[in-house]
Amino acid sequence: NWDLILYVNLELVNKMSNRRFIVKEMLGQGTFGQVVKCWDTETNDYVAVKVIKNQPAFYHQAIMEVSLLRTLNQKFDPDDQHNIVRMLDYLSFQNHLCIAFEMLGQNLYELLKRNHLRGLKLKYVQAFSKQILDAMVVMREAGIIHCDLKPENILLAPSVATAAAVKVIDFGSACLEGKTVYSYIQSRYYRSPEVLLGYPYTTAIDMWSFGCIVAELFLGLPLFPGASEYDVLQRMMTILGGQPPDELLREAKNTIRFFKHVGIYPGNEAPSGLSSAYRILSEEEVEVRDSKRPKMGKWYFPHLKLDKLICTYPWNNSELSETEKTDRLGLVDFLKGLLEFDPNKRWSPLQALYHPFITGESFTGPYEPVPETARIPVARAAAIDHNPGGGHWL
Ligand code: ATP
Ligand code: MG
Ligand code: MG
Repeated sequence: NWDLILYVNLELVNKMSNRRFIVKEMLGQGTFGQVVKCWDTETNDYVAVKVIKNQPAFYHQAIMEVSLLRTLNQKFDPDDQHNIVRMLDYLSFQNHLCIAFEMLGQNLYELLKRNHLRGLKLKYVQAFSKQILDAMVVMREAGIIHCDLKPENILLAPSVATAAAVKVIDFGSACLEGKTVYSYIQSRYYRSPEVLLGYPYTTAIDMWSFGCIVAELFLGLPLFPGASEYDVLQRMMTILGGQPPDELLREAKNTIRFFKHVGIYPGNEAPSGLSSAYRILSEEEVEVRDSKRPKMGKWYFPHLKLDKLICTYPWNNSELSETEKTDRLGLVDFLKGLLEFDPNKRWSPLQALYHPFITGESFTGPYEPVPETARIPVARAAAIDHNPGGGHWL
């Protein structure tokens, strides 16, 4: 009951901190609690307060959110230049951890809905991608895995003049690289192959989710809207071609849920004529809980490969200009580096930042990133201009 929830929170938050925050309206609701728009009587400004449910598990995860955000804000982005939400304050009230954030605008899912799920113009896909990447470079520097990148967690920020700006929010599922605790992470449509398969993960899982977001900004619809994890995996294989590499399938703990081993021991070689020692299970072979297929609806993409999907979208497309065609080929090449099945080959944020799709150079052929061993200093990434040209951006 929305009214009741709002009322309860109103009571709660108004009492909080000597009535410092006055609740104005509900902004969003998630697994961890509610986010309410408040008037901060101390700073005389609006703030967004995330009120975490008063259960120990949520409380502890929220402490993690506070600590990671504090590190990001203070140590890695002291001047607020890298598109990461600012945490203003936090306090504990009757076992509810309350975190005050700067007030931001709509999330990107709401923006796509407002645009009738038709997708954004390429220049906005590019501008938003660049800004999200900038945040990801900093997260990677800090060794922080976000674990829940999706359009709902990217918010429009108050922008300078006509330029559109976004910020990454919700570090409620984030963790430190090398200190990963949970295996059931990321929202299903944005879940990386290594997480689906149950394989040790790194910041590369955020790059996968980012690839899904970029595609969705262009299409207006999620790229892999699978009704089950098996369905997500099948969609990945259809659209991208290929499958996760054998080394990953061999080591991952969920492989048998999705794949049948057809290899030959002792070397575990692929049978002659096949490139892999594993093949994906047929629908009949999949366990019931994984076998559900969605109805053929507007969220179902026909069996098109990524390049065809991007270059011919929307499918009743009339003539595209030569520039638009080239730019779309650039987008396809960009997406392929992000939606790479092998986490070791997937581009890092910094590598992606120098792709022609992001730098605005004309696309002339497949991008070869500088190897990670020669990592570009963050200072260079910071020097990149984040503002797209003016104009209305829907
Ligand atoms: P989830 O269940 O998706 O993990 P959550 O409970 O962790 O969500 P958030 O993602 O932090 O909560 O916030 C939920 C929603 O509230 C966001 O999607 C957004 O629409 C809104 N919101 C959060 N922070 C802000 C903010 N600073 N300004 C404006 N709106 C916000
Ligand atoms: Mg969220
Ligand atoms: Mg969250």
